[in-house]
Amino acid sequence: MIEPVTASDHLIAIIEDEAPIRRFLRAALGAEGFRVCEAATAKDGMRLLTQDRPSLVLLDLGLPDADGIQIIQEVRQWSSLPVIVLSARGEEKGKIAALDAGADDYVTKPFGIGELLARMRVALRHANRRETGAGETTAFQFGGVHGDLAERRVFADENEVKLTKIEFDLLALLVRNSGKVLTHRFLLKEVWGPDAVNEPHYVRVFMANLRKKLERDPSRPEYLLTEQGVGYRLKAD
Ligand code: CA
Repeated sequence: MIEPVTASDHLIAIIEDEAPIRRFLRAALGAEGFRVCEAATAKDGMRLLTQDRPSLVLLDLGLPDADGIQIIQEVRQWSSLPVIVLSARGEEKGKIAALDAGADDYVTKPFGIGELLARMRVALRHANRRETGAGETTAFQFGGVHGDLAERRVFADENEVKLTKIEFDLLALLVRNSGKVLTHRFLLKEVWGPDAVNEPHYVRVFMANLRKKLERDPSRPEYLLTEQGVGYRLKAD
């Protein structure tokens, strides 16, 4: 259900100190029709973001002159520009900190261009909806599941599924952010409230319930996906 994104409408900023990765991204995104601008340091990167006004930024966390998270914090003071973090393997803490600081998503190096493009499309689509205020449709569908958030009804293979309030709220949050990773902390804060942010087992228990009710094989979920050590993502259809 992802609306097409016209690549040439979008200028993508790459902030990354490793030249081979910048080269790879420039070539791959250029081949998809995106326009690209790039910087190798946080300082030059900030200049790009304020002067060139890109539609999306691909941001390395380990920059020579600053931590990428500082860039996210700074950008979030004046913009909801989509930020996708390029993180190194084993950088779980950095990824979570980046997401909690306001990054939209991440890919882990080495990443495939297909995976990156999928993340970019989701982030651009959500940004477009924020800007236009469009697309707050309440009907949703993934796999054999469909429903309507406003009516608070959910069906799996045409059978109505009864969800508890918490299960429904959790599902609604995933549906509204379809395709995007959501951290444990974010889910806990939004569904259970700020006092619950250090209780990740709440999410685990209720996600297991949702999978039992909605996934064909709850032990091998196709849609309600775990992002190891980070959170959950509803796979965008
Ligand atoms: Ca780096």
